[in-house]
Amino acid sequence: MTQPQRIAILGATGSVGRSALDVVRAIDGLEVFAISGRSQLDLLVQQAQEFKPNYVVAVDPSSAAKFDFQTSAEVLIGAEHLKTIACHEEVDTVLASIVGFAGLESALAAVQCGKRLALANKETLVVGGHLITAAAAASGSEILPVDSEHSAIFQAIGSGKRSEVKKILLTASGGPFLEFRADEMHGVTVEQALNHPTWEMGRKISVDSATMMNKALEIIEAKWLFDISPDQIEVVIHRQSLIHSMVTFADNSTMAQMSPPDMRLPIQYALTWPDRVAGPAVDFDFSVAQQFDFQPPDFDRFPALELGFEVARVGGSSGAVVNAANEAAVEAFLDRKLSFTDIVSACREVLEQHNFESHPTFEQLVAADRWARQEITKWITA
Ligand code: NAD
Ligand code: MG
Repeated sequence: MTQPQRIAILGATGSVGRSALDVVRAIDGLEVFAISGRSQLDLLVQQAQEFKPNYVVAVDPSSAAKFDFQTSAEVLIGAEHLKTIACHEEVDTVLASIVGFAGLESALAAVQCGKRLALANKETLVVGGHLITAAAAASGSEILPVDSEHSAIFQAIGSGKRSEVKKILLTASGGPFLEFRADEMHGVTVEQALNHPTWEMGRKISVDSATMMNKALEIIEAKWLFDISPDQIEVVIHRQSLIHSMVTFADNSTMAQMSPPDMRLPIQYALTWPDRVAGPAVDFDFSVAQQFDFQPPDFDRFPALELGFEVARVGGSSGAVVNAANEAAVEAFLDRKLSFTDIVSACREVLEQHNFESHPTFEQLVAADRWARQEITKWITA
């Protein structure tokens, strides 16, 4: 690598966080300066013992108070310290891999402090894309996508000028219910929803993939990352998750990025960019037959998609509202207090009822988030 990187991993105990540590294990020049986690404190300590970071942030004071941290790192307790490590002068890159709205404040702080942001937490852009992009323009912070589709777009888009981009093709596996009829989807179980065909991920994003709300969030994420009109974004179902997204240019040439499904590759690219180095991801095996299938998505069976396009077009506080409604609805579904199909229905209704704000401040986003979560309680059965 051209330059060693000192990294703060926000959400080190999660699926993306653990994959990132695998990348660090494999690549010289990546150094873990700080890690954070909310639960799984034993894993957080194990990670601290292995990677010897300078700081460990335990987000939840109530569980951290009872925990014995046997580590040489300085242990900071409480969510406010996410900003401390995100802005620490010795940190080069912040990997934002906390799940949900909870990741926005620290990601925003990293950008305001001019750090390079490796962004897994797509909710950050869905909720506060206008704040993040404005802060990046002011501080000069670079934002590198970790989401596999956006990493693919980022890699493909360099084949032409930004003004030559005709459209972005966001690929989607379609999740576990791609072939289900609408009437079969109502009663699906938590176990079925968590059983993703091609990716192993955290629980929230797995449910989002099943409703295709994940793709809706990714449409909004793409709009902010690539400064592109939602009308230039298309969703394509690609069952095998081998092509991670594509870009079509003005001359109708389409560039695709492909690799076996493994989050360690987009994570690594965000951490080593602009360099490409050998890492833990394996290459394609063309000595066996490979199949690439594409089909258009069904907007009737997956109404989340239309919601994603709408929110991407309207902007303002609508991202915060749909995101919070979705987070609360997914939590209720996982607690078996809301049906699968009600997740998106509830998001649509909460979006329609909210008081739209065109340029919300951070505080207004927090208020919109709180309001939308409260609205979801009306849908929950005891
Ligand atoms: P996860 O649930 O496995 O991990 C979440 C991490 O955030 C954990 O370290 C947890 O301790 C921490 N956390 C949870 N709530 C918190 C809170 N309130 N405050 C502070 N920290 C908190 O999630 P994940 O699957 O790793 O996803 C992380 C983010 O990356 C999500 O935004 C997701 O959409 C995105 N993403 C994930 C994948 C994937 O393959 N898992 C792929 C693309 C994008
Ligand atoms: Mg993705």
